[in-house]
Amino acid sequence: MGMILEYMDYHLLPLSLLFAAILFSVCCLGLYLRERSRAGRIEALAAGERKFFKSFAVNRQDFFLLIRRSDLKVLYISPNFQEMTGIEAELVCADIEVLKSLVSPKTARNILEQLGNWDGEQELRLEFDYQMAGEAAGENREESGDRHGLVTLQSDESSACYLVVFCDNTEDYQVRTAMKAELKQAYQESQAKTDFLSKMSHEIRTPMNGILGMLSLARSHVKEPEQTDYYLNRAESLSQFLLTLINDILDMSRIESGKMELEAVPFDLFKVAEKLDSMFRNTTEAKNIQWEIEMQDFDVSRVVGDELRLTQVIINFISNAVKFTPAGGSVTVTFRQMHKIEGKMHLMIRVRDTGKGIKADFISRIFRPFEQEDASTAHHYGGSGLGMAIADNIVRLMDGQIIVESEEGKGTEFVVYISLPIAEGEQFVPETWNEGCPREAAGDLKKAIEEFTLEGVRLLLAEDNDVNAEIAIEIMEMEGAVLERACDGLEAVRMFEESPEHGYDAILMDIQMPNMNGWEAAAQIRKSSRPDADIPIFAMSANAFVEDKRHSIEIGMNGHISKPVDYDEVRELVGEALLGRSTH
Ligand code: ADP
Repeated sequence: MGMILEYMDYHLLPLSLLFAAILFSVCCLGLYLRERSRAGRIEALAAGERKFFKSFAVNRQDFFLLIRRSDLKVLYISPNFQEMTGIEAELVCADIEVLKSLVSPKTARNILEQLGNWDGEQELRLEFDYQMAGEAAGENREESGDRHGLVTLQSDESSACYLVVFCDNTEDYQVRTAMKAELKQAYQESQAKTDFLSKMSHEIRTPMNGILGMLSLARSHVKEPEQTDYYLNRAESLSQFLLTLINDILDMSRIESGKMELEAVPFDLFKVAEKLDSMFRNTTEAKNIQWEIEMQDFDVSRVVGDELRLTQVIINFISNAVKFTPAGGSVTVTFRQMHKIEGKMHLMIRVRDTGKGIKADFISRIFRPFEQEDASTAHHYGGSGLGMAIADNIVRLMDGQIIVESEEGKGTEFVVYISLPIAEGEQFVPETWNEGCPREAAGDLKKAIEEFTLEGVRLLLAEDNDVNAEIAIEIMEMEGAVLERACDGLEAVRMFEESPEHGYDAILMDIQMPNMNGWEAAAQIRKSSRPDADIPIFAMSANAFVEDKRHSIEIGMNGHISKPVDYDEVRELVGEALLGRSTH
């Protein structure tokens, strides 16, 4: 048995080897033939359908490639390929790698990775930025983002070919991108508004709570005049704070809704400096802070712009400087004419203090609404953190710039750079500015206005709101004024028309009233043929925007007093009008 096996082993081994070799060859041949016939089918498909593909492709914005899977040979390219890519079709046929030149290396890597993970069964969609050949180069090419492509890849039934369809969807992509950006912005704005509202609600409730608390304490101590007086004073200063806050919030919301408009009228920079000087001289003196305003290098003084808004910005800087500078320190305001180009003055306004300074990390946040350096700031110094945001927005509206420099413990400087047109016909060289000693206003008149009282002054008050009317009448009558009240604009006009000539010395006119508003009533009175049609009329209104004030003046009124009414202001304005007249 062993012999037989040995014999068989010996004689059958070459035979089985031969058999195996034949079998292997047959298999290879089979595979080869199958592959050949498939390739033949592919070539035939490409050739056969070429005409059909062509007529289909030329009418489209897309281009097609038919690529053999086994060796990535390009079997068909639609005619608009070159037009859309800037690459000659022959180059792609010679080497498909040339397609990489359409995208950045990063995008190419990304595409290859997705191709590597593709199972070939589902359609594969790829979206990417691309450039036509020769347009740009570099790793960050997609950042230029000129073109956007959408590619779909499918395998044919036999999985022998890929059909690649490329479509330029730049326009669609740009629209989508813009819509996404708008949506994001709208979301952010809505979020910012919600945050602003909740912050605002908190900020308003805090002083409101204080006011109500102080009033209730005052009532419970009504029999102790000193205590009552103390609580009422606290309630009053909290009300003042609340008023400033409300004004700031309104300004801020007008800025944010794009409703703040700037005026362009001639004004005198030296007058602005004078105003600031008289505003802060006493406060700084009382706080023992050295105060100075410098006017440097001016050869003209009148420019065109929005005086009120510019002044508002500088006042905010100065108020902060005074607030954050302890006794013994200094606050210096410098106006400098930098240069004049093409009828414009480039102006620098700097407010420098030697106060507590600002922490470096806060400087980048200082212009955000409601931002203060830390929680203790409001506690020690008050304020709401809106002033800087408003100042920044106003200066931006003026196409200017604010630079902040500060060192903790040493001081701060805010510098505003703006350029304003020089007022027409401006050749006037201003007088030398006596540092810290502004040009004197007409001294006697100023003094007389300061001493003016409403004693014996006959006033027509147009006010529809009973509470407001009652307060105004009581306060002014206590000072000796004689008041008659009209309940709307129509009645005010009638009462004026029916009064004897010069029967009233001045009219205080609410603006929002039924039947006829204050502006219309004032306009009617000005149109009257009576010799006293030029009677001083002052708006006394809760419409407190700068635009409202301007409108009152445009309509022919003599001034605009915002509510809540400051009766010192009423006295001063009425005095100025009446005394000014009598000196003419
Ligand atoms: P407010 O003064 O009402 O708090 P602002 O917006 O005007 O609001 O100022 C924001 C914050 O910036 C202040 O609370 C303060 O922390 C800081 N700041 C502004 N000006 C100065 C200054 N001159 N010195 C020190 N800190 C300042």
